[in-house]
Formats: sequence, structure tokens, C-alpha cells
Amino acid sequence: MDKTDIKDHKQIGQELELFFTDDIAPGSPFWLPKGMIIFKELEKYIRELTEKAGYLETSTPIMVKNELFKQSGHWEKFGEHNMYNLPIYDEEETNEMGGSPVGTLPNYTLKPMNCPESTILYSFRPRSYRELPLRLAEIGRLHRREKSGEVNGLLRVRQITMDDAHIFATDEQIFDEIYAILDMMMKFYDKFGFKYEFRLATRPEQFAGTVENWNKAEKDLEKALKDKKLKYSLKPQDGAFYGPKIDVHIKDSLGREWQLSTVQLDFHMPEAFKLEYIDKNGQAKRPVMIHRAIFGSFERFIAILTEQYQGGFPAWLAPVQIALLPITDNHNKFAEKVNKELRETGIRSEIDTRSERLQAKIRDAALQKVPFMGIIGDKELETSTVSVRLRDGEDLGSLKVSALVNKLQENIDKKI
Ligand SMILES: [Zn+2]
Repeated sequence: MDKTDIKDHKQIGQELELFFTDDIAPGSPFWLPKGMIIFKELEKYIRELTEKAGYLETSTPIMVKNELFKQSGHWEKFGEHNMYNLPIYDEEETNEMGGSPVGTLPNYTLKPMNCPESTILYSFRPRSYRELPLRLAEIGRLHRREKSGEVNGLLRVRQITMDDAHIFATDEQIFDEIYAILDMMMKFYDKFGFKYEFRLATRPEQFAGTVENWNKAEKDLEKALKDKKLKYSLKPQDGAFYGPKIDVHIKDSLGREWQLSTVQLDFHMPEAFKLEYIDKNGQAKRPVMIHRAIFGSFERFIAILTEQYQGGFPAWLAPVQIALLPITDNHNKFAEKVNKELRETGIRSEIDTRSERLQAKIRDAALQKVPFMGIIGDKELETSTVSVRLRDGEDLGSLKVSALVNKLQENIDKKI
């Protein structure tokens, strides 16, 4: 594709009616019904992957007292100015007008990350070594105070949906967990045809925990990368203060590079929140915490996909999977029957019953980037078939409805 033909996700989002942003909520996208289908399919996919890998899904509050972030260290390290802080008081604390007491400071925050709250889930009750590794997933909605000049479509947003997870594990379990996460990441990238590269960031000058723990953890991360035969580069001293990490950079089909997934070890937060488990001998021990995200952010990931596919999503993600195009009004009734049958099998089928010429209907379905088109005329009516053609022009010939369902289902299941 000529670079000048490439549209950005904001333009495609408008044209295909997927999403948009409005000045009424800068940096927070509005999802239209078709965009929401893509969002939900990705959610479904990530849930499938995480459930198979033994994660448990959770949900934590969006609005939380900011003392949590003071305890976690985010208040200082991430910066309170990067969060949305609100003065919210219980009724008895408010003044007679129902407003905040005079001279009070914001005491609540819209969470900018899920991590500290996942420790509250962990500490809900005493934990035993038998429960570890405990893998808690959350598709959480976060808010980050991006400057208004810096928000950009879905790429840089103030309201972020993250496919987050936190794993609480013993030191001995780190390697297996990292190995499994890398495995999940690769499965995921291969599905989208991304080329990927891993970067291992090691201990910085300022760090939490002991050198011994860091050395062992860095070795575990590196061994997992080597065992998976992954190409990686080292970023010495570039780890977060709380633990070493692996960042993943991908290249999309347009050759652009993005940082997507991340997996980070954390020696600090278990300490800050005094997390414990009871080991085999009845002794209280501190678990290690692993943060990981595959998409990073749904918003950014959908922006990348929208641009990579230029709106021509594969059938499993396509908001409309097949457009049925009756040639004349006489064919509408049969087309409606086919449409109903397809929809009953769960296929997202739509029918174009406008009194337009077939060429116009085909053109419009192509503009909407619908992956399958089903043309219905006299011949199809007589033989109870549909003439199927693909978005790229390939002609699959006449298919019975059952064969069409199989063909569509095969593409959807394989996610191609
Ligand atoms: Zn985290």
C-alpha cells in the first residue's frame, strides 16, 4: 500500500462508525455499536486465553481513597498530578450546602492503575502456599491525567481499559509464570501477524528489595526468554525501581513499531502492603508480585489494529461479517430468510434491501470493508444458494446456506 493511501484510525473510526471523541469528554472515546463489537470480541479472546492459563477474573473499584496510592508509592513516583483527585465526603462531613468542607484536600482518586487494589483482593483473607501462584485478572477502567494537547484519538487517552493481571507467587514459581506469560504473548501476536521483539530491563541504581532477589529474578526472566528461543535485547539498569521487566515491541504490517505488552516483577508492593502467605512449615512468607498486560490498553490496541487492517478487519472481529445483497426486490424475501438463518447461528449478517443497483450495493459493502458478500438473484433463488465473494474479490461460487455457515464459522474460529 502506498503510504499516502494510509488512513489513521480516527478517520477510519468515523467512516466505519466505530468510535469517536468529543470535546465534551476530551481523551475519553465514545464507542459506537460497531466499534463495541470489536471491543467485545477482543475481550472475549483475552478472557479465553486467561481462563485457559488459570487466571481468575476480578473487578476492583474505580474510585478509591488516595491513601492507597500513598501507601503503594504511586502518589510520589507516578505523581499525584498525573491522577484525577476528587474531594468526596460522607454526608456528615459536608457543609450545610452539601459541598466539601472548606479547606479540605481531595481525598479520593480515580485509579490510574489496578495494582494496589489487587493487593487488597489478595489480603481479603489469609493465604496459604497451596493457593499460589494466584493469578488475578482484571479488565479495569483507568484514568490518567494526560494533558489536553497530548490526547490523540485512541492512541493517547485519559480513560484507559487495560487487560491487566497480577500474579502472586513464591520466588520458586517466577520462572514458570514468566514462561507461561511469554507463551501467551506469542500465541496472541501470531494471531495478528505481528513481528515481536523482547527487551529485558535490569536493576537500576535506585531499587527496592535485595540484590540477591534481583539477580535471581533477572536470571529467571532471561532463562524464560532463552528457553522460548525469543529474540531479545538487554536494557541494563532500565528496570522499574521495584523489579526487572520485559517489554515487548511489535511491528505491524505497515512496519511501524509499538510497545505493547509488559511483564514486570515487583518486590516493592508486597512489602508496602505487607502481603503474606503461610508456607508448608506454617511460617509467614512474602510473595512476589508479577504485573502483566498483553494488549496494554484496549483503546491503543484497537487503534493499532484499525490502522494495520485499514478497517478491513478479519471476519472474527468484523462488525458485519457478511452483507447479503439481493439483486432486485424480488429476491429480498429469500435474502431475509438466509439472513435470519445466519443470524440464528450467531453470524453477524446484514441485508441490503435498498432499491439500488447491485454494483452500488457491492461498492457500499466494499467501502464498509465487509469480509463476505452474499449475492442473491434468480439463479440463487432457484437453487437455494448464495453466490459468495470475498472482500478481496475472490469468488467462492454458489454455496448452500449450511456450507456458507461452515465457511464463515471456519474463518471465525481460526481467527483469520
Ligand atoms: Zn500492575
